[in-house]
Amino acid sequence: MRADRPDPMQHAPSDPIARRAFLQRMGAAIALYGATGCTRAPAEQIVPYVTQPPDVVPGRPRMYATAFVLDGYATGVLVESHEGRPTKIEGNPEHPASLGATSAFEQASVLSLYDPDRMRAPRLNGTTASFAQVFAAVRRAALARREGEGLAIVLAPSSSPTLARVLRLVRERLPSARVFFHGSRARAAHEGARMVRGRVLERRHDLRRADVVVSLDDDFLARGPACARLAHDFASRRTPNSEGGMNRLYVFEPTFSATGTMADHRVRVRAHDIAAVAARLVREISKGRLAVPDVLADAAKGVVVDALARDLVAHRGRCAILVGASQPPVVHAMAHALDELLGNVGSTVTLAPSPLLEAGEPSHDARALAAHLRSGAVHTLLVLGTNVVYASPADLELEKLVRAVETSFYLGAFADETADACTMTMPEAHFLESWGDARAFDGTVSIVQPLVAPLHGARTSLDVLSALLSPSPQEPAPSSHALVRETMRVGHGGDAGFEAAWRRALRRGVTDDAPIAPVPPGELALDRHALAAALGAVRLPPPGALEIVFPTDERVHDGRFANNAWLLELPTVVTKLTWSNAATLSSATAARLGLSDGDEVDVTYEGRTARTVAHVVPGHADDSVAITLGWGRRGGETNARGRGVNAYALLGSGEAIGAGVTVRRTGAARALAVSQPNHDLHDREHHIARKTTLAALETRRTEREKRPVALPLYQLAPADTRQWGMAIDLSLCTGCSACVVACQAENNVPTVGPDGVAKGRIMHWLRVDAYVGGDRHAPDVTLQPMLCQHCEKAPCEYVCPVDATVHSSDGLNQMVYNRCVGTRFCSNNCPYKVRRFNWFDYHQGEPDVVALVRNPDVTVRQRGVMEKCTFCVQRIREHEIAVHRGDADVPPVRTACQATCPTGAIVFGDLADKGSTVARLHADERAYGALEELGTKPRVAYLARTKNPNPEIA
Ligand code: SF4
Ligand code: SF4
Repeated sequence: MRADRPDPMQHAPSDPIARRAFLQRMGAAIALYGATGCTRAPAEQIVPYVTQPPDVVPGRPRMYATAFVLDGYATGVLVESHEGRPTKIEGNPEHPASLGATSAFEQASVLSLYDPDRMRAPRLNGTTASFAQVFAAVRRAALARREGEGLAIVLAPSSSPTLARVLRLVRERLPSARVFFHGSRARAAHEGARMVRGRVLERRHDLRRADVVVSLDDDFLARGPACARLAHDFASRRTPNSEGGMNRLYVFEPTFSATGTMADHRVRVRAHDIAAVAARLVREISKGRLAVPDVLADAAKGVVVDALARDLVAHRGRCAILVGASQPPVVHAMAHALDELLGNVGSTVTLAPSPLLEAGEPSHDARALAAHLRSGAVHTLLVLGTNVVYASPADLELEKLVRAVETSFYLGAFADETADACTMTMPEAHFLESWGDARAFDGTVSIVQPLVAPLHGARTSLDVLSALLSPSPQEPAPSSHALVRETMRVGHGGDAGFEAAWRRALRRGVTDDAPIAPVPPGELALDRHALAAALGAVRLPPPGALEIVFPTDERVHDGRFANNAWLLELPTVVTKLTWSNAATLSSATAARLGLSDGDEVDVTYEGRTARTVAHVVPGHADDSVAITLGWGRRGGETNARGRGVNAYALLGSGEAIGAGVTVRRTGAARALAVSQPNHDLHDREHHIARKTTLAALETRRTEREKRPVALPLYQLAPADTRQWGMAIDLSLCTGCSACVVACQAENNVPTVGPDGVAKGRIMHWLRVDAYVGGDRHAPDVTLQPMLCQHCEKAPCEYVCPVDATVHSSDGLNQMVYNRCVGTRFCSNNCPYKVRRFNWFDYHQGEPDVVALVRNPDVTVRQRGVMEKCTFCVQRIREHEIAVHRGDADVPPVRTACQATCPTGAIVFGDLADKGSTVARLHADERAYGALEELGTKPRVAYLARTKNPNPEIA
């Protein structure tokens, strides 16, 4: 899993082993291990239970509900545990932010639990100490002065009811202590709401009701606290047969996002100019009722914007406008105005108080924290669960300020930048090791329950705050578990029925409490004067001026996942970049600046310079450079350290978009680890990823009736058993890549590191290909999940000299690893390039703790074998065994990729059952087989991506 693992092939030229000696050793090895090209796993002893726990059946995993929290918002998950070892995450169907699906972050989070780089022991002034010693030192320092004077506490954004209660108690005991929340992504939205609504409210969208959806620089289908839910609701209206008709999506954005690939109309604009787009919509739709400066609205003059304004008016009350977190408050304020003008409030959007603690308060302002530290008033600083030194704008100089504090304590997962700056550190528990609670985007409360005892004795923020509250160091502080139970007991109204409610909440993953109620539309007003004043203050950089954008990264977010190899190796949605960020820009801007893809560049902004690589991205806005946050880490995390460039070092003003940037070539060039060229399809892409429009479908329907019926040359043998197959609807795939990580987690797929990716050795069994077509400057991207097609007439099977790849009676193209001799003939003959060869023993040398993440139901492949999608055969067989056993209510087989997909793009099932969804989709008018003209008879049917462009501008 680690990128720094030595690659044997890299050392081949200077290898001291002579060819003759090498052949001798190979011969001996083959004699020892038998006549296969692969190595054999070492023999290991297993020890059965002496006294078997009554609720544990070896080999039968158990599922537990808990919640994954990101930026303070919870997503409910179900965690698969094998004899007490969490191995796989699924979505929780009962949780409103999940509805059974997850994003790639939840899928990958289980790997972070077993990260060998996690902090293992507390440290006190540079030396290892016990937890008791550090807790005592923290208490002493925090309580040293009366009423908490000189104490500052920095927390990650949170919606935890228990944390709210504990903070209240801390403030009662230490009223002079200051509390800050660091790193909220919702600040601009909160400020925008306060500007025009007079209070902090969050907009909650119901995309099931929206005929027209507009994204103003918001990648809402793949990122954000409700992305899985929004993707689910959006998808419910995204196919030609959707109830209520197919929706239409307009996207205005500077960088190509997953949401942008789904657009019916995508307009690339600088991030600054999004304000002009919103202003023009407000002016056109309000017909002068709201004051909008002409200079602003005219800056967005364009055919699509004006047609969109008319489309929105035509769908009054049935449209939704979503705004990205990096847009300034004024754009969020304009979205509120558009909601009012279009009558969307109460229909496609509701407004409700934020679930985040102290949302919109100055305690969320990193500048206020820096000013407080700079004032010299802080003698004890507690940083709990947030890498404040790394993930802050450079001009705040937080590293210097934290180092200057007399006593500083950090509770963190890794020995990262903040740990290095603090005098005391303590390992932080992973969420699968923690008790806690958190609210979803709509306020639904989940209990965070541990699946495993902390691997390194780690603690939670609640544990640390609780230690401050205990009356004396001798008296044990209440545990996180006790605190969470007490919060729920108080909310429940006492002991009566509490135990049953607690158990129900643990089982379901959500409590019985109602979500946070929206504000009735009648109680909402729009402050037009405040909006007019804010619009009057908007200044756009002149046309042609270069801007810089700092979005969070789709793989490592703000840097917190930067050591997670599954996410580092996850290709970006359009350009398939892995293991790094870069300065992305359009081909026209690159040409204007004299740059080519891969040129090393110095980016200078507000007097600070960072060195990175220019990466030309199709569909990127001109005059805009984007560098994602979260890279260029310099802490103790092996995979994260030194990868990419640290955009926080440039982020001076604290705003995610800025102007006045210069980009200069250094003269050097660097290769980027890009994955898509690995799967060269020899210009046959247009046969593979098909697309159509609603109007074209109509025409095709008529043509189809006239078309002669093709007679098949081969007749399949009559199905006397189940016939497994899959259907993938390209209209629904957003490219979020949750399925890719889910497949990796389920099937023990290794990572190969950036050098391996660059050499074409990425091992993903499932990839999401991006086909860029149309206008070079405003391209259309079609995404296509690509996996083994389990062809009926499989070209790989004919050419295997040892029958290592064969067909099963239920239609699976199987790999017999123990037979594979590694000729790779099968891969050469596969038209889809989905077979991946295990060049090395990628697990060799890994610390033992990493092996704990493996799925025991799936073989860990060793060097020298070919591998590829099995249709999650272990899940199929488990299902069959359950049916055979006579279990009641055996659920249908769901492959790992299918189970996690938020849009339901992947459907798996029995093709022999003509009433099954998969059989119906195979017969759909949009269904086709990739490269079916080759006669391979793939068992995967794709449904052509359908767009619904506005007829006015199509
Ligand atoms: Fe995301 Fe995969 Fe589903 Fe596409 S198929 S939406 S990439 S989970
Ligand atoms: Fe991977 Fe299973 Fe999906 Fe195949 S069916 S791509 S093995 S998750």
